[in-house]
Amino acid sequence: MTIVDSAAGRILSPLSELLQKPLAIVPGQAPETGNPFAVRVMSPRLTVVSRDGHPFNDSERALLHEVFGLIRQAEEGEAKFQELEQRMLSLQRENLDLIVKNRNLTEVSSRDTLTGLYNRWYVIEKIDSEINRSLRHGSPMSLLMLDLDHFKRINDTYGHGVGDEVLKSVGQTLRESCRVYDVPGRYGGEEFCIVLPETKLGNTAVVAERIRARLAATELRFGDVALNVTTSIGIAGVDSVPEEGVLSPAALIDRADRALYSAKSRGRNRIEMWESGPRDTVSH
Ligand code: GH3
Ligand code: MG
Ligand code: MG
Repeated sequence: MTIVDSAAGRILSPLSELLQKPLAIVPGQAPETGNPFAVRVMSPRLTVVSRDGHPFNDSERALLHEVFGLIRQAEEGEAKFQELEQRMLSLQRENLDLIVKNRNLTEVSSRDTLTGLYNRWYVIEKIDSEINRSLRHGSPMSLLMLDLDHFKRINDTYGHGVGDEVLKSVGQTLRESCRVYDVPGRYGGEEFCIVLPETKLGNTAVVAERIRARLAATELRFGDVALNVTTSIGIAGVDSVPEEGVLSPAALIDRADRALYSAKSRGRNRIEMWESGPRDTVSH
């Protein structure tokens, strides 16, 4: 049964045929009071009026009530649907707000405030996720640990403020030396690290050497002060993991640290690679 155009008083022909009377439909108000034959069938919004001057008989009334019942149900259903839709939209908006806030928080809490690089916690998480990815897909990943050489001297000679500027500048150089998917971080004090996803240990020495050379060649100027800073770098990777089993982030960091220690003890401003022990020297 097709019903309803509301306000315009359009004739509902299918209903009209059922009732065998010409019908008018008008907005839901009391019909003209002067017309004794106009019969109103209630709905808050719609009024059906018999146009032939005869009131509706009982069966017509029953049918009209049924029709209006259906209209009401449809209207209520529509109202509920719209309410639900509104609620869903506002939930979606809230959800989007939360995602944005969350992203901002994560961004803030993952950064080192001095250098703007990723901080230690973020980097450790990244190492963890990259190790897991390596295990799942058999893809390589490597880690560089960097420690500035004789940094204490810089602080002692020029003051802590200049020391801080050096750290910022090193951070900038590291950022510029990385590929977009590498993750450079400040691991602590004057220690930095770079996570290199999808990079075989064998290819990492070239990257590390480029960074070492670039840092050493960069002259840093702070007012009247001009200085150079050098870096020792330790390298470790997960290439050999399949034979060894699962490697934890702590174990990988420890390997890179041991290689770094070896670079320090062998003269600084050099790189060392961990293999089955920090034996193989790759120096500049
Ligand atoms: P090495 O070549 O053996 O690494 O010598 P080093 O002097 O760099 O090593 P050491 O660990 O003895 O000194 C690190 C110094 O870094 C000591 C500390 O005062 C300084 N340092 C750590 N964090 C900061 C910082 O945020 N700002 C400044 N200016 N100095 C820092
Ligand atoms: Mg140190
Ligand atoms: Mg140092």
